[in-house]
Amino acid sequence: MEGKLYNMAQIIEHFIDGKRLSACSGATCDDINPASGEVIAEVSLSEISVADSAVNSASHAFQEWSETPVGERCQVLFRYKELLEQHFDELTQMIVDEHGKTTAEARGDVRRGIDCVDYACGAPSLMMGRTLPRIAVSSSFSREREEGIPLDSSLERVPIGVCVGITPFNFPIMVPLWMWPIAVACGNTFVLKPSEKVSLCALREVELASEAGLPPGVLNMVTGGPDVVNHLLTHEDVKAISFVGSTVVAKHIYKTASIAGKRVQCMAGAKNTMIIMPDANQNAAIDGVLNSSMGNTGQRCLAGSVAVLVGDAHEWFIPRIVEAAKKIKVSAGGEKDCGMGPLIDQASVSRVTKAIEGGVATGADLLLDGREINLPGFVGPTIFDNVPHDSALAMEEIFGPVLSILRAETLEDAIEVTQRSPYGNMAVMFTDSGYAANKFKDTAGAGMIGINVGVPAPMAVFPFCGWKDSFFGTLHSNGEDAVRFYTEGRIIVSRWF
Ligand code: NAD
Repeated sequence: MEGKLYNMAQIIEHFIDGKRLSACSGATCDDINPASGEVIAEVSLSEISVADSAVNSASHAFQEWSETPVGERCQVLFRYKELLEQHFDELTQMIVDEHGKTTAEARGDVRRGIDCVDYACGAPSLMMGRTLPRIAVSSSFSREREEGIPLDSSLERVPIGVCVGITPFNFPIMVPLWMWPIAVACGNTFVLKPSEKVSLCALREVELASEAGLPPGVLNMVTGGPDVVNHLLTHEDVKAISFVGSTVVAKHIYKTASIAGKRVQCMAGAKNTMIIMPDANQNAAIDGVLNSSMGNTGQRCLAGSVAVLVGDAHEWFIPRIVEAAKKIKVSAGGEKDCGMGPLIDQASVSRVTKAIEGGVATGADLLLDGREINLPGFVGPTIFDNVPHDSALAMEEIFGPVLSILRAETLEDAIEVTQRSPYGNMAVMFTDSGYAANKFKDTAGAGMIGINVGVPAPMAVFPFCGWKDSFFGTLHSNGEDAVRFYTEGRIIVSRWF
């Protein structure tokens, strides 16, 4: 992509009551292009009073918005979807610049986000309740009537109030769109607190919603870190918290917000296993594992970062995966033919480098060393073989382009690897055997299963179904779970004399 498709904001402000506002304190942090190290904007950091203003604005907007007919609410989202399509290239370039993804990955981020807006546009059907007439017949109190009087019962779904979304850096456009479009379509108002690392994308996403006609106060955005988040978690006017991010923060958010009486859903970290059976389609397995482990520079919760090779699968798998990984072009995301961009920041480079050092220390065989790329901000594709089953390389989330290969004698040994993981986001199997695939699906202990598919990402109509330490709560994001999460059920039992 040539030239800039957007004007870089000098200051990334909060968005409250339909307007951009700076923090009173003047506190800022740098928004850095991870490929070049260049500061592309300054993020104005919210203080507690700004978070209060955002919640106030959302509280004031709630009554009128919740009473706006659902079809009218969705008309705004239809216009928003059109605006996202019109600004597709601009948003793509923002992601490439601010996050570092390849252009193709950034396009995927925007496209999957638009799918969520599409889903939210269906709110008139999704919110529909149910009616059961004549659940009983009571005796008549009326002297004129001999027959009994029927009781009818119905269920309505109603919005809950001010909802808060706290989002991570790794899908800057899509993950906020998992939350607020369906929440506001259901009649709620919203405060978004995006990752401070990708606030430029988030602010543009929110501004476009205002341009589409979302009334002031329905969607607000505050920046900042833990202080602002912690304040929002216990704010008396906030009814629900949606969080996506690491497991350690998810546990804190779930506990704090639950004790404060909020409805909470926390989509958390992951360590995903892919089992490769000897009978697998070799091309599909190599492509699937490569894309799953190295795509988005390994920075996604559906990254298949552990490959378990069963029986003699290693004979064809190892040479082919190493050869394929070596061919990935590592560069700034917008460059032609780029196959892998940088990590999000220097802290991530240090974390991933440390994990590689730790892997070497455990005696695993380093087949491809991404540290050799020697570009500031980057770690290239890295592959370990013969990784001990209980080592950190096999068990802990690295969130970088590191594939850990484990060996297993049998199908059962391989499935045990997925079962022992504390995480349960996704598990994948490549095989030609229906028996193996069925046994795997039923016993892997993960909420998203891929059979001959490397990244089984659910469409927006399905919930994003992490299990174990990859999810805290009852109702997941997306799909019908999201509609249930952002609405309250109301039962009406009535009789008429
Ligand atoms: P993170 O947990 O560091 O940050 C997520 C959000 O929480 C950010 O907005 C951040 O400002 C805030 N935050 C950070 N520390 C906090 C604290 N101590 N108290 C309160 N708030 C805090 O996550 P990240 O590095 O931005 O994102 C990567 C993580 O997200 C990975 O673990 C990845 O697996 C996970 N993730 C999960 C899913 C899923 O659906 N399960 C999807 C995407 C990413």
